[in-house]
Amino acid sequence: MVHFVGAGPGAADLITLRGLRMLEVAECIIYAGSLVNPALLAYAPKDCEVHNSAEMTLEEVIAVIERMEASGKDTVRLHTGDASLYGAIREQMDLLDEKGIRYDDTPGVSSFCGAAAALCAEYTLPGVSQSVVITRMAGRTPVPEKERLAGFAAHGATMVIFLSASLLEEVQAELLCGAYAEDTPAAIVYKASWPEEKLVRCTVGTIAESARQAGITKTALVLVGGFLGDHYERSKLYDPAFATEFRKAART
Ligand code: SAH
Repeated sequence: MVHFVGAGPGAADLITLRGLRMLEVAECIIYAGSLVNPALLAYAPKDCEVHNSAEMTLEEVIAVIERMEASGKDTVRLHTGDASLYGAIREQMDLLDEKGIRYDDTPGVSSFCGAAAALCAEYTLPGVSQSVVITRMAGRTPVPEKERLAGFAAHGATMVIFLSASLLEEVQAELLCGAYAEDTPAAIVYKASWPEEKLVRCTVGTIAESARQAGITKTALVLVGGFLGDHYERSKLYDPAFATEFRKAART
C-alpha cells in the first residue's frame, strides 16, 4: 500500500513519530525534493529505493508505486508540511483508487504552524482575530475569482499566504485593497525551521521592499494581521473569574 506522510516544515525532527516509523521501515520513498529535507531520508533502511518527485510527473509517480505493488512492497509518499495543503494528493489518491491500490495518510506539521512557532506568535488572539485565512496568489495555478486576496483581506482576519514569494508587489497591492492599512503588521518567514530560516517583521505597506532587502524570492510565507501587533485581550479560558468544566471560578 501507499503511506502518504507529511514531512513537516523542514527540520528533520519536526516529522511526527508515526511518520518517522513509516520511514524507518520504508521499502520505497517518493519525496517532494523541492522542499522535503533530505536529512529525513537518512531514517530509511539502506536498501530503500528513493525517488525525488520534483523531477517526476504524476504518471511517473504512479508507475513507481505500481511497480512496488507488483513486488509486494509498500511506498512512502513524503510530502512537505502537511499534505492536505497544496500537496496535490487528491489526484494521486484518485488514480490509486482506480487501480485498486490502498493508501493511508499521516498528517505533518504544516509550514504555517512552523512559521508561527518561529515567530513565537499566536494566530488567534482574543480581541484581534479568531480566524485564519490560508490562501495564495494566483500563479500558474489559477485561484477562483471569488477567492481574490483583496476579498479575504476585507475581513481583516489573520492571513497566511503560501506560494506567493515571487509576487509580493501584487500581494501587497491586493491586501491594501481590502481592510488592511499600510501599517498593519506583517511578517515574511523564509524556510521556517531550516538552518537558513529568515524572519522579517514588516508592515503591509513594506512587504515587497522588506523581502527584497532580505533577498527572499521563494519558499516563504507571508503572514498578515493584528496578531503580529501589541494589542489583544486576555483569554477567557485562563481568566480567574471564568469557570470551565475543569476549573471553578475564583471568588472576587
Ligand atoms: N504542504 C505544505 C505546503 C506546500 S506548498 C505545507 O503544509 O506547508 C509550498 C509552499 O509552502 C512554499 O512556496 C511556501 O510558501 C510554503 N512553505 C513550505 N515550507 C516552508 C517553510 N519551511 N517556511 C516557509 N514557507 C514554507
